[in-house]
Amino acid sequence: MTGRIYVVPIHRPLTVNLQFLAETIAARFGIPSVVLPLNIDPSRAFDRFRNQFRSTELLAQLLEEAPADAIRILGLTDLDLFVPVLTYVFGEAQLEGKAAIVSCFRLKNELFGIPPDNHLLQTRLLKEAIHELGHTFGLVHCDDPFCVMRVSTYVEEIDYKGDDFCAECRRHLSRRLEKLGGIHLRKASS
Ligand SMILES: [Zn+2]
Ligand SMILES: [Zn+2]
Repeated sequence: MTGRIYVVPIHRPLTVNLQFLAETIAARFGIPSVVLPLNIDPSRAFDRFRNQFRSTELLAQLLEEAPADAIRILGLTDLDLFVPVLTYVFGEAQLEGKAAIVSCFRLKNELFGIPPDNHLLQTRLLKEAIHELGHTFGLVHCDDPFCVMRVSTYVEEIDYKGDDFCAECRRHLSRRLEKLGGIHLRKASS
């Protein structure tokens, strides 16, 4: 199977290491992943009453701009995202679809009056990126407290879980990837 996971920075340049994120995503899913700046217009997703951005609109734009060989496309942003039924979201994914998005906004220590910690921010973003991409491959929320597919409403919950799949989720993912065309999941290296 040819194709890539594209990692697309949206809006302001992120302080996180996008290259590292792409490399870890590639290792988790066994699919080449590259950083690709695209022309995404966040103003189309802005809700002036909530002063937040509609994540679903950004997903639609990512899909419009996705290269033909995109197996998945992941937006990374520091905008405050929401879906109408929730106060905020860390990210959103199309279940078994192509696009996902995650945001740093709610993952930053500064939001809670704690000094910035870029390494921690990077780790949180990575976990949420793998989580949302997991949804695009059909994975649902997992009860394993350390599994990356464990649902997280608060940053403490993100910090508690790991950045990899439990054995059960990994089996599901492997089956899904095989169906997609013979991708064999490598054992995670970190
Ligand atoms: Zn989820
Ligand atoms: Zn799991």
